[in-house]
Amino acid sequence: MGLLEGKIALVTGVANRWSIATGIARELHRQGATLILTYAAERVQGEVEKLAAELGGVAYPCDVGSDGSLEALAARVKADHGRLDTLVHSIAFVNKEDLAGKVYTTSRTGFALAADISAFSLIALTNALVDVLADGSSIMAITYFGSTSIVPNYNVAGIVKAALESIVRYLAYDLGERGIRVNAISAGPISTASSRQVRDFKKMLDKVSAAAPLRRNVTPEDVGKTAAYLASDLASAITADVHFVDAGYHAMGMYPEPVTAS
Ligand code: NAD
Repeated sequence: MGLLEGKIALVTGVANRWSIATGIARELHRQGATLILTYAAERVQGEVEKLAAELGGVAYPCDVGSDGSLEALAARVKADHGRLDTLVHSIAFVNKEDLAGKVYTTSRTGFALAADISAFSLIALTNALVDVLADGSSIMAITYFGSTSIVPNYNVAGIVKAALESIVRYLAYDLGERGIRVNAISAGPISTASSRQVRDFKKMLDKVSAAAPLRRNVTPEDVGKTAAYLASDLASAITADVHFVDAGYHAMGMYPEPVTAS
């Protein structure tokens, strides 16, 4: 019997087989959850429908930048499933030119877009789906260490992750009286379509695998296992938290020299 038997989980952010959301969807399914996957654009629709079919779930469109799209998603979830027990936000977008150079050159429109899609979208998704979220359900968002520490080149992506983590805490307060828990998983660097936009991303992977206490990088499966735990009743009193799944890298205060891949 899986940890999530009888639960319905909506997972955003699957783009392809490397997506962190793909690892999360697979693990939630392995633990018995019924899956609703969403796709942002027609470009990724086929890939997401394929994964949904493999995992016995469904795939619906959802562009978090559009209120109409969020309303349509909520109506469909309500009509087809009646309720949700888990909501996974695994979405970010930053213009490539804002992932290099100086933070002070970020444009007003680039900042607004990054904040809208990467952070505000958690508020918008929650607002759209709050009526179908069952008492005792679990919301989670995927964040990164660059929110609270300087990670060269992560730039505005880190700034909006700080907003995302703060949103997690305020939502946890708002929804706590309904028994709904809200947490963030802070994943270590993983090679995906989004992360590969960060300049020198490969060097980040090398640094983590050399310096983290576990001396390795993490995988979407590692994140998926923690997502399954947070979605389950095993995490019944955990809310407003940022849970690190980064092989312990965040706890390092000084690094062995030279920091090179093993
Ligand atoms: P990914 O490119 O596979 O996933 C990003 C997803 O965001 C895609 O599925 C994309 O379709 C979706 N998205 C973008 N704009 C959207 C919109 N308007 N509406 C709906 N969806 C939209 O990359 P990933 O690395 O799996 O990223 C998932 C999450 O994990 C992001 O929040 C990212 O910041 C976070 N994260 C990634 C890493 C890493 O190193 N890969 C580390 C920590 C946190």
